[in-house]
Amino acid sequence: MNKGLMIVISGPAGSGKGTVNAHLLATGDFVYSVSATTRAPREGEIDGVNYHYITKEEFLSRIESGDMLEYTEYCGNFYGTPKKEAEEVLASGKNLILEIEVEGARNVKARYPEAILILLLPPTFAVQEARLRGRATETEEKILERLARTKEELAFADAYDYVVYNHDGCDREAAQEIQAILQAERATLRRNAGVAERYFAN
Ligand code: 5GP
Repeated sequence: MNKGLMIVISGPAGSGKGTVNAHLLATGDFVYSVSATTRAPREGEIDGVNYHYITKEEFLSRIESGDMLEYTEYCGNFYGTPKKEAEEVLASGKNLILEIEVEGARNVKARYPEAILILLLPPTFAVQEARLRGRATETEEKILERLARTKEELAFADAYDYVVYNHDGCDREAAQEIQAILQAERATLRRNAGVAERYFAN
């Protein structure tokens, strides 16, 4: 059976990656990789759905035992992708979405060169700032921390394969653009080894 595609979608706070991913998941063609984190759940978040919320001790012990496909420390908390779950999904032929930040994305690409790295961005930095302030779920300190982090992260934009802009009110279009990218990726010859053999055999 063909392995599923490993798709990494990164985007700074305010890029709308949650909404865009929800559109992709609604198609039924993707499985979302539920990360482990030491950060506290936000209002409305559900353990096992948004994240697996675990203690720092547990997180460190999982790193130790090689259970994390990749992990990072982001704004004072640990985040990581459970390895076994990810590999099971891919082996079953389903496409896996990893919603992770830049450092994790680069580590995934180093280990799995066939992974597709997509950077989702608001149209501009000014729009991102306006979205974060409009959200009003976070303190000013957290907002400034996330904006500063965006500047650091975009220094690594070149590590990605694709950039998709999420304009205000256009999250469906952004999801469609990602699907178009994946459709093109599936058609690449490097993902279709043995084309000639199959052609003449049928
Ligand atoms: P948040 O606290 O807003 O849910 O996530 C903060 C950042 O951590 C986001 O950029 C998110 O994509 C990233 N993130 C979430 N899970 C993981 C993970 O498993 N690994 C890595 N490297 N980053 C993650």
